[in-house]
Amino acid sequence: MSKLLSDLIFAGARTLCDRAGARIAEWSGGPSADEPLAFQETAYALPTALALTGQRVDLPAHAEQLISEVRVATLEPPAKVESTADLGPALAAGRSALVAAEIIEAAEIIEAAGKLDARIAWQGFPSDALFRSLGVRLVDGRLPAVCTIVGAPSTVEDAVSIARGLQQRNILTLLTSSTNGRRMAEQLASAGVEMGWETLLVPLGPSTTAAVFALGVVARAAMAFGGLPPGDDDARDRILGYCKERVSAFILALGADDLTTEQGLNEASCKLAMAAGGLNFGVPTVTDAEIPEILDHGICAYEALVSGVPLDGIVAKGIEVRGIKLSVTEIPIPVPYGAGFEGERVRKENVHAEFGGRRSVAFELLRGRAMDEVEDGKIQVIGPDLDEIEAGDALPMATRVEVAGRTFREDFESVLERRIHEFSGWTSGVMHIGQRATVWLRISREAYAAGFRLAHYGEVLIAKLREEFGALLDKIQVTIVTEQAKVEAMLDEARAVYRERDERVRGMQDEETDRYYACTLCQSFAPDHVCIVTPERPGLCGAYTWLDCAASHEIHPRGPNQPVVKGETLDAVKGQWQGVNDFLEVASNGALTRFSAYSIMEDPMTSCGCFECIAAIVPEANGVMIVNREFGGMTPVGMTFSTMAGQIGGGIQTPGFLGIGRLYLGSRKFISAEGGILRVVWMPSELLEAHRDQLLKRAREAGCPDLVDRIATERDATTPEELLIHLERVEHPALTMESLF
Ligand code: SF4
Ligand code: ZN
Repeated sequence: MSKLLSDLIFAGARTLCDRAGARIAEWSGGPSADEPLAFQETAYALPTALALTGQRVDLPAHAEQLISEVRVATLEPPAKVESTADLGPALAAGRSALVAAEIIEAAEIIEAAGKLDARIAWQGFPSDALFRSLGVRLVDGRLPAVCTIVGAPSTVEDAVSIARGLQQRNILTLLTSSTNGRRMAEQLASAGVEMGWETLLVPLGPSTTAAVFALGVVARAAMAFGGLPPGDDDARDRILGYCKERVSAFILALGADDLTTEQGLNEASCKLAMAAGGLNFGVPTVTDAEIPEILDHGICAYEALVSGVPLDGIVAKGIEVRGIKLSVTEIPIPVPYGAGFEGERVRKENVHAEFGGRRSVAFELLRGRAMDEVEDGKIQVIGPDLDEIEAGDALPMATRVEVAGRTFREDFESVLERRIHEFSGWTSGVMHIGQRATVWLRISREAYAAGFRLAHYGEVLIAKLREEFGALLDKIQVTIVTEQAKVEAMLDEARAVYRERDERVRGMQDEETDRYYACTLCQSFAPDHVCIVTPERPGLCGAYTWLDCAASHEIHPRGPNQPVVKGETLDAVKGQWQGVNDFLEVASNGALTRFSAYSIMEDPMTSCGCFECIAAIVPEANGVMIVNREFGGMTPVGMTFSTMAGQIGGGIQTPGFLGIGRLYLGSRKFISAEGGILRVVWMPSELLEAHRDQLLKRAREAGCPDLVDRIATERDATTPEELLIHLERVEHPALTMESLF
């Protein structure tokens, strides 16, 4: 490291300490002197400060004391900096800079937020719940790295291309700071790039100090997952050692044009001081600015500060310098591909082609075949392709994936099939919702204009199935059909397969097994959500039965479907077991402690967002109504499916409401704690007819053989008043059952 660089780091650290000191003096001199100075929804107060100093900062007085302590390390830059061993003081100054930055952020929340671009929702401090879900994904490799962007490149095009490059590699990108008044989040917003946690592009905070939030996540990972308590210098070094080993993070400092003004230089020295702070965590910085470098090894995995990197290679350089191993499958398609595109919507005005939803039939089916029945890599499109229709048109679609492998078992089919949702959604410009025969697919005008055609959809499925299940599959072929008559004929066959799969699990009873399975696949967007899947209660998306989970666990022993040993039965009627509760507490990041498998009223299971149906109590009727996703009309609780979905989704427990899979409707255990099928007072006619046989069977067992005809549909009632009149007329049993409350 050069003397010049060391001096700049010290100057920046001092500036930050002074700013923090001034801010705290203002705070404690003002009316809020006794108010706690800490972030919301965290048990770690100011987590970076806690990890680095062992001190908990809760009140302005603590902050004042701590600032005066850490400021000492910023006062005297060493006279000579010649070897790696001389870096110690600069690293210490960097730590002081981080503590100061965190105090500034805590005191200011988001400075002058009102004056900023209103299109951007700055996320600020990530709560513990959010950090846990990020941390888990960082540690298990689903998120290969975190990149913190400090500053902004000079053009919007560069900003977009850097963002896309990071997204395509599934790297979580946190946007902070500015360069000469430019903010990368604002550049992306002006180009219409979608930002948020689900697209992996997160506007964290507008100022340089916001970069400390990224290190706060890293520090919490060490304290929480590494079980390392904060404390003295040794404790600190253990925490920093863990971060260096386990958490892949790097900083991209963008834009160098502010170095030419004094104010810019001042800000740049603050950025450098923060970067020096990052080095303590093994987080290197890569920049396009021409500044002195720190090429010493031993601080981070490789070099610590690399400068003068051209923007078109800066993402790759960051990955290389941090030593991140990425397995990127190159898929030969004309649009970008990566996890960050999963949350992307294709709006109506922007649709080139649509399949399923309410406008046409669309389904997908994955089948295992004999080795000689599959031609590996073959993609067939039968019927009109995207360039043979008018923009905005709807087409029917059958997606048939056929696989062959020596160890492939029929049980695995639905496990692989369910992944089609994720694999296709990762394609930029492709929106995929649902599964089986409820698929709804949209392809955007941009994707079409870029040359995307249906065969590319097949390419995506083949590439991803091979990447994820290569050990299981020797051959994969995809057939996409868009001809109405053919799709309909194939649908009959598909429905028979779906039914057969459901029957296989329908025979089994919960009491026969000592283990259930969890599914945490949906934690990617509902961080605390856990499905507990039992033989008689499938996952609420309808795609995971107990057998599916067992198969999935066999394929991916460390994957999202872990076995849950039931343990002691706490309540056989409600369906509570000690083992399930214990598992839940860990898997929900501490958010949930109890689940009832068979109750809608007490500790019901959480709902993520992909439930096929919603069950909701209708208090006036002392019963429960069920509405399916496809039903667009009003229900007797005064809400449509989508309004209710918005309120109960996201992984929370909402007593009185339950997201459920269709299969659960015919289960012996369907809300059995509240009386099961006898409670059902209303269903859309289509749903009722689709499940009539199973419902009939349960109704007979419950001693009310004509119950199914007493259940109201939208033809009988859409308000509680109408419903009550109907129920009284047919003498529905719910009216005389024990009160739900
Ligand atoms: Fe798994 Fe439940 Fe999500 Fe279905 S809804 S994928 S079972 S977590
Ligand atoms: Zn879900």
